[in-house]
Amino acid sequence: MRTPLVMGNWKLNGTKESVATLIKGIESAANAATNVEVAVCPPAIFIEQVANLTADSRIEFGAQDVSTNVAGAFTGETSPVMVKEFGAKYSLVGHSERRQYHNETDAVVAAKFVAIQENGLIPVLCIGETLEERETDKTFAVVETQLKAVVEVAGIAALENSVIAYEPVWAIGTGKVATSEQAQEVHAHIRSWLKAQSEVVAEKVQILYGGSVKANSAKELFAQADIDGGLVGGAALIIEEFVGIIEGAK
Ligand code: PEP
Repeated sequence: MRTPLVMGNWKLNGTKESVATLIKGIESAANAATNVEVAVCPPAIFIEQVANLTADSRIEFGAQDVSTNVAGAFTGETSPVMVKEFGAKYSLVGHSERRQYHNETDAVVAAKFVAIQENGLIPVLCIGETLEERETDKTFAVVETQLKAVVEVAGIAALENSVIAYEPVWAIGTGKVATSEQAQEVHAHIRSWLKAQSEVVAEKVQILYGGSVKANSAKELFAQADIDGGLVGGAALIIEEFVGIIEGAK
């Protein structure tokens, strides 16, 4: 059985004070939920603070994005090597906000996936369809294309040491959570697509649901056979919500 993973994506939010309050507020729930993996992805500038605050807890952390380059003349970028040096376990890659606002193509996402793994981090590959794509029955085709782009470059075996986050774009930050049936249908499709290439990968990879998950929707979503936890945006900034989501994954 796969261990559930609850991961917070803080996006571009936080102050030194709020980061300390948030970690303190979720720490005991994360430590008590021994059958759940818990992680947060702060803005890069808070990674060292989070590393220090979580040193004695079960909370893992990751970056929200990293460069494909490890060092050099790339102004404004964050290297996966730097993130690793501070003790991160994960990096998100291909979040829809990166795809949308930073023009990250499938090719860029695949290159970042490889750079993340090569530097000892676990990629959390975000995929998902827009509302228009869902309404025109393209959901399966879209997630397959996004997965295929990575598999063609990294190889199917590379996915064994990764996490996939299915995040329908229409559900991110909108308050419109997918129903557990809608989410499970896509998760099952993703797993069977993987299974056709590698049973080992399909069995092992955690597939998270992301898109307006809240404490009151988490339990039902996470009870679905192919949903192995959640990638949480807005609710990850609210202690009671995030704690409730961790509880929902137990
Ligand atoms: C996300 O940013 O990955 C996300 C799922 O955001 P929200 O939970 O706010 O929809």
